[in-house]
Amino acid sequence: MSCSGTERVVSLLKTLVAFDTVSEHSDYQCAAFVESQLSQSGARTGIISEEVGGVQKCSVYGVFGPMNERGLVVCGHLDTVPFEGQEGWQSPPLGLSRRGDRLHGRGTADMKGFIAQCLAAAPLLKRESLRRPIIFLFTCDEELGGAGSRRLCPRLENLLPCKLPLEGWIGEPTAYRVLSAQKGYITFNVVVRGVGGHSSTPDNGCNAITAAAIVVEAMARLDRAWATGVGSVKDPAFQGSPTSRLNVARICGGSALNMIPESCELAVSIRVVPTDNTGALLQQVRDEMHSALQRAYASVPVTPSLQVSTPVITPGMASSGNASIERLLKKQLGQAAREGAPFATDAGSLAEIGCECAVCGPGQLEQAHQANEFIGIQPLLSGVDLIVNVCQAWSGL
Ligand SMILES: [Zn+2]
Repeated sequence: MSCSGTERVVSLLKTLVAFDTVSEHSDYQCAAFVESQLSQSGARTGIISEEVGGVQKCSVYGVFGPMNERGLVVCGHLDTVPFEGQEGWQSPPLGLSRRGDRLHGRGTADMKGFIAQCLAAAPLLKRESLRRPIIFLFTCDEELGGAGSRRLCPRLENLLPCKLPLEGWIGEPTAYRVLSAQKGYITFNVVVRGVGGHSSTPDNGCNAITAAAIVVEAMARLDRAWATGVGSVKDPAFQGSPTSRLNVARICGGSALNMIPESCELAVSIRVVPTDNTGALLQQVRDEMHSALQRAYASVPVTPSLQVSTPVITPGMASSGNASIERLLKKQLGQAAREGAPFATDAGSLAEIGCECAVCGPGQLEQAHQANEFIGIQPLLSGVDLIVNVCQAWSGL
């Protein structure tokens, strides 16, 4: 790449990092900058704006090539996790700071480095040779459980100037491993209700915290069973954690020391192997909780009850292995094995609208969300040509 191209991707990253796009803030200014860059490169662009909780949230797209074919979406998110109160930063999080062969700043790895590469690559595309569209799409609220793309994707057909994309490339930090599956994510709350009262008359009440402990133990048992492949599908693509897993994430209950707690709330999350049956997993959770309580309270007159909230489901993603984007990236990066992402990305929502995705980006996952987050200068620079080559090859197929 030319020297000016090198300077360009670094200067684009510097500008992108300077925008405070922590998810709870508006990303409008960042989106406007990205749109102007794509527009100057000759793309058909647009900002999709919505108000969420009184804050303006924006996604932005830029489309190259013919509009009447199904194309490749090259996708990233504009938002970042917070840095306020995060200890250990050695330089301002919104300033791009070079130390050795690394560039530090919030979002450098996750995932403004990839967006800077896209903006640097856009003017280098040979637009007249594109036979299918290349759609750069940058979302908001990804760090809020993928809420931005979950709202956006069902409306995408009416918002884009071209047809819905056929395949997708998500540049989340993977240190350039090509990941073609990701676990889904389910969250829900369980309220355990007992009967309150004064702690001096325990037999008139039913302690909700004690009951919740039985529920927690039941869920821990279920998680251990899933870990061994009992009750859950096993997928070796997810190295280190090949099955669905359950996590009791929060517990809250009780008030005064002399009172019998009448309710206790649990927050639970499940990481789901994409080929696992979400409904069946949730049914196992319900069955285990109810039968554990029934056993424990069989001979007690006052029994607790359970209330399970409607689960919020972030879909997983499992590629067929036949997607051109997966094959092209693996060929360029010299990878053969199928690997899965242990985290959720916008690929889940894109998969829901029939778009098969590969997740592959220049940052390192270990850097995401950390103080002193960084991207290596070498992977940042080399990625511009990768984007041009892969987009050009995909579009010409
Ligand atoms: Zn990310």
